[in-house]
Formats: sequence, C-alpha cells, structure tokens
Amino acid sequence: MLFDSFSKFRKWGMCNCNSMQQYANDPASPIKYDKDLNEYNIVYDNHHLIVYYCFFCGGNLSKSRRGELFAKPSKIELIKARRLIGKINNERDIIEIMGPPDSKISIADFADSDVIKNHFENHFKRGLKSQYTYTSKWDTLKVDFEIYDDGTVHSSVSGKFIGEKERK
Ligand SMILES: [Zn+2]
Repeated sequence: MLFDSFSKFRKWGMCNCNSMQQYANDPASPIKYDKDLNEYNIVYDNHHLIVYYCFFCGGNLSKSRRGELFAKPSKIELIKARRLIGKINNERDIIEIMGPPDSKISIADFADSDVIKNHFENHFKRGLKSQYTYTSKWDTLKVDFEIYDDGTVHSSVSGKFIGEKERK
C-alpha cells in the first residue's frame, strides 16, 4: 500500500497512523504496549526495548509515564544528602555515616548470574565489588554507593521509586 499523503500519518510530530497499536493488539507480534507506562516495547526472550518513534510514520509515540513512577527529588533532601555524601571516602565511611543500607548487592554472590553480569557489565570491567542502596532515609531520594576493588566509592542520587503506591 502506498501512502498518498505522508502528513496523514503524522500530526504535530506525533504518530497518528495507529500502526503500532494494531501490531500491539496482535498477540503474535513482538511489539507490546505497556498501559501502565504508556510505552511501546519490542519484547524478545527476556529483553524489553522501549520504542520512542513509530516504525511506520516516524512520529513520536505517546508520552511515557515512566517519569511519574519516580519522586521528584526535594531540594532540601538533596542538600542534606549531598552534605552526608560529601563526607564519604571509603566503604567504612558509608556505614558510619549512612547507617545500615536498605539493600546491599555483593557482586561475588552473583558470580554465576548472567542477568546480574549483563546488567553490571560495564561496572564489572571497572572492578565493581558491591553496591549499597539507601531509600528509607528520604521521602524523595534514592542514594546508591558503588564500591570498587581499588577502594573507590561512587555515589549516585536519583528520584525514589514511588510507582508501587500509584500503580494498582
Ligand atoms: Zn505512526
């Protein structure tokens, strides 16, 4: 089928051709729609690849709700967290300053897990040893510490996952 007018299929840069919906409705198609997140994915084996543009018209697909699943970090909490993080130089400091973590991953425990290995592939190459995660100290933040073989510690601060509360 030839499209007589390309513009029919796009509106203000958005997909307007509905082809992705049609494919997602076909259970045999690898294109799946996640209604909770308002995202299209290509699903094969254990992989989910998010699709941002329509394959057929090139328009933007509907806006993902993924961002709504994470709290917007509060400025006050960020300042407080950064003040604590600034004092941390090694693994022992983490526990002394932050207390026990909400979760801890030791990479050695997962030496046989391909899932973990793939997930942390780049970290592995850099010698990641373990990861501490703190969530319950804050309403809006999640803080991760990655500890490397050479003793260095990297921290990252992000919005706390709040999706469970809102996704029913
Ligand atoms: Zn389209």
